[in-house]
Amino acid sequence: MSNPDLILLHAPSVYDFRKEAILYGPVSDLVPSTPVFEMYPIGFTTMAEYLERAGLQTRIINLAVRMLDDADFDVEGYVRKLDAVAFGIDLHWLPHAHGSVEVARLVKRLHPGTPVIFGGFSSTYFHAELIRYPFIDFILRGDSTELPLLRLMRYLRGGGKARPAPGSADYGVLERIPNLAWKDSEGAAHANPITYSPDSLDDLLIDYTQVLKAVVRYRDLASVKPFRNWMKYPITAALSVRGCRYNCTTCGGSACTFRSIHGRSKPAYRSPEKLAQDIRRIGEFSEGPVFVLGDIRQPGEAYTERFLDAISGWKKPVFLELFDAAPRSFFQKVARSLPNFTLEISMESHDERVRRSFGRPYSDREIEDTMDYALEAGVSRLDLFFMVGLKEQTYDSVMGTVEYSRHLLERYAARGEKRVIPFISPLAPFLDPGSRAFEEPEKNGYKLFCRTLEDHRQALLAPSWKYVLNYETVWMNRDQIVDATYEAGKRLNLVKGEYGVIDPEVAEATDRRITVARSLMAEIDRIVRTTPEPAERRRQLNNLKGHVDSANLSTVCDKRELEVAMKGMRINMLQAAALVVSDWWKAKTG
Ligand code: SF4
Repeated sequence: MSNPDLILLHAPSVYDFRKEAILYGPVSDLVPSTPVFEMYPIGFTTMAEYLERAGLQTRIINLAVRMLDDADFDVEGYVRKLDAVAFGIDLHWLPHAHGSVEVARLVKRLHPGTPVIFGGFSSTYFHAELIRYPFIDFILRGDSTELPLLRLMRYLRGGGKARPAPGSADYGVLERIPNLAWKDSEGAAHANPITYSPDSLDDLLIDYTQVLKAVVRYRDLASVKPFRNWMKYPITAALSVRGCRYNCTTCGGSACTFRSIHGRSKPAYRSPEKLAQDIRRIGEFSEGPVFVLGDIRQPGEAYTERFLDAISGWKKPVFLELFDAAPRSFFQKVARSLPNFTLEISMESHDERVRRSFGRPYSDREIEDTMDYALEAGVSRLDLFFMVGLKEQTYDSVMGTVEYSRHLLERYAARGEKRVIPFISPLAPFLDPGSRAFEEPEKNGYKLFCRTLEDHRQALLAPSWKYVLNYETVWMNRDQIVDATYEAGKRLNLVKGEYGVIDPEVAEATDRRITVARSLMAEIDRIVRTTPEPAERRRQLNNLKGHVDSANLSTVCDKRELEVAMKGMRINMLQAAALVVSDWWKAKTG
């Protein structure tokens, strides 16, 4: 077994989560990850595939999953044995601000001569701060870094210096790698302009068989799982776009953020035929659902038609996102092509004023019609998402959202309809850097508690999600955001139980968990208020660790409410192996 050229490491949100007592709250209720955010970004898969295609061996290691799966997993001992030309660490989502930096520190201590490369949205935003750390050598900026990474890896594999002297040939090479932040032998930091921002995603391949190949090559399934429960619920993503046409106030993936942070003037789409091909390829080894990232109507009607033609007849579960209201004809076409589709609508608030000031362009009437069309066409399930912590949203408005959900469910129940499932969760833990709310907080009614990367790193160590939140609003302070979240979660859960969209036992269990979470929150608040001495405060908080850890999974809803049923073997290892062998054969025979 040869050493890889690049090892991509994914860190937990807080490096010492196994030691710290932190009540994470409902921050990850609606994503497949636990609050440790162990899911690695999709960019790991595209980068690994891109480098492998160019002949560089790449290995993904999900340290967060290893630490979650095994309380005694020895990170230091494991990392010490690794060997590669370079290590790559993602700091894509800001909740990894603590873990990613600590893993970099550890890697550099154990492998002082090996370059450490950072990448991802948050790395891009905070590149000037990150490059100052002595244990981080490079940052790849922008939303697309596959090609710059390949150029950097070729340079390093060819013996290029991580910190070249000014005027040297190596210095000249690094200066020409697009998107790269680096430093020279005198410690001066450089940030090359973001000039690599391709117009299309057709040069990429989101190929999960890379994951399977790594299992064969390194005999290590445990380290490569995208998230903890992936083997049980192998949901995967297919990427239709990088960028967005919309400008939602708090979103770090909005058009204006892409423009100002990543230098992207317009969204880059994957061609509809290739998107369909990605989904079919995943289906060759997995029964799990594929989540199509990005609204397939964004690039226009012709794109939508071509995609639905190309995927026509696909019977496995597919999740589609909707950013705007859609006509009946759209769902009729979707249902013909994808008979097992689930729809994801983020309505954010029932209140049209709040919703519009967030950036959603539709009225209640328009979206309710949209939902009716989807149900009529035969959608398998329709998830409706609401959020707490929005511009112009008060505590009463949040409770109004629950009442609105009740009316909806009542109306649907009268028709014997149980496919619409509302969810509510807080905008947490952080407002996205680069979003309009983060860049102009006062103008948008937000007050920011954290600005720098270091502020966020420190915030992540706070004892509960209330203190981790990097914002509050003119309409709700942090206490009210927390109260509104728990109260709305409790009421919505009861409503869902009442109208039979979740089982009574699930509703009861969630209700109990919310009560426990609230009392833990009150106890943490008491300790914070009454115990100023840090060591004693820490001792008291650590006494709660057992309770806090068990309250950290699924707070205001049960994560499993988001899952869809699957038939047969979830990951078909035999088919996966056959796919790996056939790819290998094709590559060998040209
Ligand atoms: S939240 Fe708004 S801006 Fe962000 S990706 Fe979705 S539609 Fe685009």
